[in-house]
Amino acid sequence: MKLVFATNNAHKLEEVSAMLGDTFELLSLNDINCHADIPETADTLEGNARLKASFVYQNYGLNCFADDTGLEVEALGGAPGVYSARYAGGEGHDSEANMRKLLAELEGKDNRKARFRTAISLILDGKEYLFEGIVNGEITTEKRGDSGFGYDPVFRPDGYEQTFAELGHEIKNQISHRARAVQKLCEFLRQWKSL
Ligand code: IMP
Repeated sequence: MKLVFATNNAHKLEEVSAMLGDTFELLSLNDINCHADIPETADTLEGNARLKASFVYQNYGLNCFADDTGLEVEALGGAPGVYSARYAGGEGHDSEANMRKLLAELEGKDNRKARFRTAISLILDGKEYLFEGIVNGEITTEKRGDSGFGYDPVFRPDGYEQTFAELGHEIKNQISHRARAVQKLCEFLRQWKSL
């Protein structure tokens, strides 16, 4: 059965297809020739994931899921949250600028609790199912490590001394927010398929 993952991120596709096995034919946006700039204008992670998944379902008639992730910092009232990619302004994805801004906002604050949260929206035969993955931790006072991406050098997950960027892909991929959300999605899809 064909299932679209509304992304072109090769790493995410590989991770999900390894977990799903060959029961589903996993297709990327490129695979279905979708080159549209799908709007991500919602003010929640769930809303943005839903916008992407339903865009594909409505325009291509294919079952689809999409994800959206944010870093939620307690002392900042949950910011940067849904705006994580463009926290420091501009078009976004400037990780260095985003981390600089985050460290500056938290300077002198004792509460450095934070969590990564991933929301996945799955649209199956027109019906939506939501999945969530969370990893709790704290924001370090300086950057450490150089693997990973985004805020990895300043996020230390609970139970570990190292940041995500120091832990490396293998451990991060076992405990991450995205891995947890994807596990829930895959369990659901396997059960659904065997009904
Ligand atoms: P996306 O929804 O996966 O595109 O994530 C949105 C933004 O959240 C990214 O641009 C990163 O800034 C941040 N982010 C998402 N996942 C991670 C992660 O695993 N580590 C560090 N930063 C992340």
